[in-house]
This record gives sequence, structure tokens and C-alpha cells, in this order.
Amino acid sequence: MPAPKIAIIGAGPGGLTLARLLQKHDIACTIYEAEISREVRNQGGTLDLHPRAGQRALKEAGLIEKFRKYSRPEGMCTKLIKYDGSVLWDENEMGNSRPDEFADRPEIDRIRLRDILLDSIPPNSIKWNQKLSRVEADPRSKDHYNLHFADGTMETGFDLVVGADGAWSKVRALLTPEKPFYSGISALELRALDVDEKNPWLSKYIGNGSCFMFDEGRALLCQRNGNGSIRAYASVRQPENWLEDCGIDFTADNAREILVERYFADCAPEIKRVMLESRDELIPRKMWMLPVGVTWESCPGVTLIGDAAHLMTPFAGVGVNVAMTDALELAKALIEKKHSWVAKAFSDGKNIALALKQYEKSMFERGKQNSQKTADNMVLHFSKDGGEERAGKLRGHYEMEKAEADKVGK
Ligand SMILES: Cc1cc2nc3c(=O)[nH]c(=O)nc-3n(C[C@H](O)[C@H](O)[C@H](O)COP(=O)(O)OP(=O)(O)OC[C@H]3O[C@@H](n4cnc5c(N)ncnc54)[C@H](O)[C@@H]3O)c2cc1C
Repeated sequence: MPAPKIAIIGAGPGGLTLARLLQKHDIACTIYEAEISREVRNQGGTLDLHPRAGQRALKEAGLIEKFRKYSRPEGMCTKLIKYDGSVLWDENEMGNSRPDEFADRPEIDRIRLRDILLDSIPPNSIKWNQKLSRVEADPRSKDHYNLHFADGTMETGFDLVVGADGAWSKVRALLTPEKPFYSGISALELRALDVDEKNPWLSKYIGNGSCFMFDEGRALLCQRNGNGSIRAYASVRQPENWLEDCGIDFTADNAREILVERYFADCAPEIKRVMLESRDELIPRKMWMLPVGVTWESCPGVTLIGDAAHLMTPFAGVGVNVAMTDALELAKALIEKKHSWVAKAFSDGKNIALALKQYEKSMFERGKQNSQKTADNMVLHFSKDGGEERAGKLRGHYEMEKAEADKVGK
């Protein structure tokens, strides 16, 4: 019996981690990616990988040393400010002060993570410029699936199709009618490059990691990225068509000035300065999410991982960690079946169906818990006392840890 034919749709962190893990165990698979090449897109900001999630997946994938080489532990620092400029919490001056739950969560630029993963799989196992338009059960054999691509081409006869194709997954429709909905938050992603050289004030003000201002209906979320750049998300709670209807031309030079004047006028001068001086890029974004706790009836031969399964807003910073944990758990379930049956039986659809059921049980729970946490954080980030509340939590953890350390004489 031939080996199973496996397609992974999407070369994001979820799809690439899955491919690497399967290939490490001699299970062949092909990734179909919509982008035309690995160089094509701005891959976005920085991600913190958690020890029991993203880092665990990289460890199993044999890539943890590479991660350690490129990650930035100093990026774990959090600074919280209020709209009036008062500083509520600042870890930049406190050394390694993070409580256990948050310790060892170094940051890595998304592009760097993607490169580590891409370099770990044979180049011929990824097909670029293959934008999936739909998946269908093969009309001649209901245990197999066919892929239809936007360019009109088709690939047939897959035993397993994994949708790792993010927010707007084309695989999802085969499993559930749920679609992403607008979360109520829109943001302008602003960038400042080479800040150490070009804007030392901004560099010092943001610090080594993240700098957040939470307030009623608005937030400023800033993060230091690699190569001395800073990314700031000036975010507002507004209706779905705000970006189109607010009357600001986001391509114009004065877009930042108008935004600040309209929505952040009463903020401290330094908060306004962050937005006004981050001038190297401006990308308007709407934040989308799936309902908390999406599930489906398991379907033999098709499943989802990462954002395709449980898209959440970025307000808990867990999306990539959940995606990589999904990849790890799905790979484990498939590898377990490979080892527990003779190799020739592995392509038996029943084994794959059992592996998917096992994976989905834990994934549904993980997706639900993290989506709920993210939805709760979104409320907190856009509330008047959100900053104080977060600072209080961090202070509480810090004091508890310090007391523990003092007890054991560390
Ligand atoms: C502004 C912002 C900030 C974020 N910050 C954080 C953070 O700090 N920490 C964190 O943990 N998470 C963060 N996230 C969330 C995180 O980016 C996602 O959860 C994570 O990237 C999900 O990985 P994925 O592999 O499931 O999907 P994606 O990263 O979306 O990858 C999907 C891939 O599929 C491809 N694709 C899409 N459609 C098709 C198609 N039809 N055919 C073929 N290929 C297709 C895409 O090109 C892409 O390469 C943030 C998200 C946003 C929007």
C-alpha cells in the first residue's frame, strides 16, 4: 500500500512546524502556499514563544538551539503607561523580574522564525504560488480529497488535507460554516526603523520589549523588533467600516496627525510623539476573530490547525503558540498511528481518522481556553482601568516570586 498523500495548506508557523515534525519522522507531506516566494511579504512583528507551547514544538522539531540563537530574551520586558504619561509598571530597570508563568518567553521576529522553519524542510516539499480556492471530496473515492487552486489547476487523491491557511482558511468550509467576524477593534500599524541611530528618544522610551497604554476605547501597543525597529499599533474601538468611513486618508502624510488629534488629543505629549514619530510605515488593520469555542464533527481526512481553527485577536499574544502546539499535537497523533500499525496500514483512512479525532479533542479545548483569554484581554486593554489592573497583576506576581526567592535565600 502506498504511503499516505498529505497536503498542508499554508506555510505559516503552524503549517511549517507540522511539516517539519512529520518529515522528521519520515512521513512525507507537501505544503501549498499562496505567496509566490519566501521573500514576498512583510511577515509582521515579534512573537514571544512560551516554554510549554511554541518552544516545546521547536524542541521536538530539533530547532530549539536555532531559536535560542536568534531570540531576544530582553524583549520580555513590559512597560505600562497611562494616557496621561504616568508609568504604572516598567521592567526595563528591574532585570529579570518576570514571575514564573511568564519567565523564559523570549521574543523572536516572525520573519526569523519563518526562516528557521523554512530552512528545516526540503525546498521541494513546499509549492509556492499555489493559492487554494477549495477542497472537495474526490467524487470517485470518498476517502480522498482534491485541491483546486486559484490559477485553475488541481491536485488529486489526498488521504489527508490540513488547513493551516490562517484567518481566511479555504479548508474550513468543509468542516464548519463559522466565519471570522470583526472584533470591534481597528488599528494602524506604525513603524520606526533604526531607532537607536535615528531616534534615541523613541528607543529609550519604548525600552527593550513591549510598551502598552490601555484606555477606554483606545490603546497604544508598542513592541521592539529586531534590527532596531519599533512597531506601534494605535488601536481604537470603532465600527467595522471605520477605516473606510472615518475620512482619514491613510496614504497621506498627515494621517498620523489627524488620528492623534481626533482620538488621542488628551494623551501625554510622549504618547503622541510615539505615534507621530513612527513614520516609516503605516498599515491599517481590522482585527477579526472566530467565535470562542468553535468545534465540528470530525471528518476523516481533513482538519485545521492554528488561526484556521480558532482565529483570535492578538490581545493575549498566544496565537502563534497555540498554532505551533496544534502542529505538535497533530504530528504526535499521526506519528503514534504510524508506529502502532505496520507501515503498510498507515495509509488506511481509519488510522488517519482516529489520529484526527484524538488531536481535535485537545485542540478544541486549547482553542477555547485561549480564545476566551484573548477575548477577556481585549476588554481589559480597551478599558479605563486596564493598565492599572495589568500592573497590579504583574506587581502581585513579582512580589510573590520575590518572597519565594527570599525564603529559599536566592
Ligand atoms: C497584528 C498581529 C499581531 C500578532 N501578535 C502576536 C503575538 O505577539 N504573539 C502571538 O502568539 N500571536 C500573535 N499574533 C497571532 C499570530 O500571528 C497567529 O496566531 C499565527 O501567525 C497563526 O499561525 P498560522 O500558521 O495558523 O497562520 P498564518 O500565520 O496566518 O499563516 C497562514 C499561511 O497560509 C497562507 N495562506 C492563506 N490562505 C491560503 C490559501 N488560500 N492557499 C494557500 N496558502 C494560503 C498564508 O499566506 C500564510 O503563509 C498576531 C496577529 C496579528 C494580526
